[in-house]
Amino acid sequence: MSGPTASPQVIVVGAGPVGLTCALVLARGGVSVTVLEAGPDLAAESRASTFHPPSLEMLADLGVLDGLLELGITSTTFQYRDRRTGPIAELDLGVLSEDTPFPFRVQCEQSKLTPILLAALRELPGTQVVFGQQVTDVSDLDERPVVRTASGETFTADWVVGADGASSAVRKATGAQFEGITYPERFLVVSTREDLEAALPGIAAVNYVFDPEEWLVLLRTPEHWRILFPTDPASADALETDPVRVQERLRGVADLGRDWDLLHASLYNVHQRVADRFRTGHVVLVGDAAHVNNPLGGMGMNSGLHDAVLSGWSLADLIGGTASLEDLDAVLAARREVATSYVKAVTHDNWERLRESDEAARIAYHDQLRALAADTSSSRDYLLRTSMIDSLRERTP
Ligand SMILES: Cc1cc2nc3c(=O)[nH]c(=O)nc-3n(C[C@H](O)[C@H](O)[C@H](O)COP(=O)(O)OP(=O)(O)OC[C@H]3O[C@@H](n4cnc5c(N)ncnc54)[C@H](O)[C@@H]3O)c2cc1C
Repeated sequence: MSGPTASPQVIVVGAGPVGLTCALVLARGGVSVTVLEAGPDLAAESRASTFHPPSLEMLADLGVLDGLLELGITSTTFQYRDRRTGPIAELDLGVLSEDTPFPFRVQCEQSKLTPILLAALRELPGTQVVFGQQVTDVSDLDERPVVRTASGETFTADWVVGADGASSAVRKATGAQFEGITYPERFLVVSTREDLEAALPGIAAVNYVFDPEEWLVLLRTPEHWRILFPTDPASADALETDPVRVQERLRGVADLGRDWDLLHASLYNVHQRVADRFRTGHVVLVGDAAHVNNPLGGMGMNSGLHDAVLSGWSLADLIGGTASLEDLDAVLAARREVATSYVKAVTHDNWERLRESDEAARIAYHDQLRALAADTSSSRDYLLRTSMIDSLRERTP
């Protein structure tokens, strides 16, 4: 069987937040785009829920920010806490008011952004989003890639963008290696309808809680709270997600005198991996297909959105004849550099800090956080880094 007769200029594989953003950028750049998505519809899973200022700026440029702001929670501060002693420091993103028009984070699930992106994409001519097409292979990478799907159909285009997530079939077809590590412990994510602000007065919408035995991340989303726990690498999945065990761990966060109202609990493996190249012939990798990291700092989806916008514009310029292949490669090299020396470095450091077992090192770090929260210039420098503004200022060609 063959695909549509009028081939698009670009096929984007994957209708996650990154693939849809890239498709929107390409379509706004006058490029015809087809998105192939394996699922029957957009994914509804609760995953990333933090949007950093540069991502908000990019979404505003694409005309899709208002919809997200209506659905999300604007959070101007975040907190560091110690599990045993309570609050350490609260950082105020307001100090970035001269650096960004959006000096705050938006807390909102990625599954609320994707329908907004899809609706915006469908308004543009030359775009098509096809659900139920699981890509199994890509061949003829150097000239005019041919994309095959599980249904037996083939699609061709001048370029293919692999935005098909961490297990990317597109990445595998290019032969790129996905180098890095898998953390020994799986992370447990629990969603609850409980009001954590009532249970832990004074917490912010985003809280990183240090503890050598059981660190936590407490995140508010519009409808519920999410709690992230580490788990024992040696214990079985069934034990870690057993409702009795989950309730026991939640009681350790706050004893409500009864069971917590649980919405969902799931375990997942966490990796730090970066593809050894982001372009092979006429195939480009973006988002989780190109790099994955731990969720501590909320940088996975955000850096993927930055890939989508920067690589998407560069590819649109190349197709439109106003940029060269060298220009695209410079952008992709910069995105790979951000993934390795910035996102990977910051998120791994966050993991080390949260679980620090050396008491002197822990106390010294807490003092450092208190000092920077008390000083506008230091907190601005720190927030430029943790809000990912530096990663774009320093690394965009
Ligand atoms: C529990 C959890 C919490 C997280 N929290 C955060 C956070 O707070 N902040 C943050 O920035 N990041 C976070 N992340 C990471 C974030 O979810 C990912 O970085 C983000 O989803 C990447 O988007 P993507 O579009 O590249 O990939 P995905 O969201 O994985 O989308 C890939 C799409 O491709 C489709 N697809 C897959 N294979 C194929 C195929 N062969 N053919 C066609 N389609 C295919 C999938 O169905 C999916 O729709 C978290 C992740 C998890 C698991």
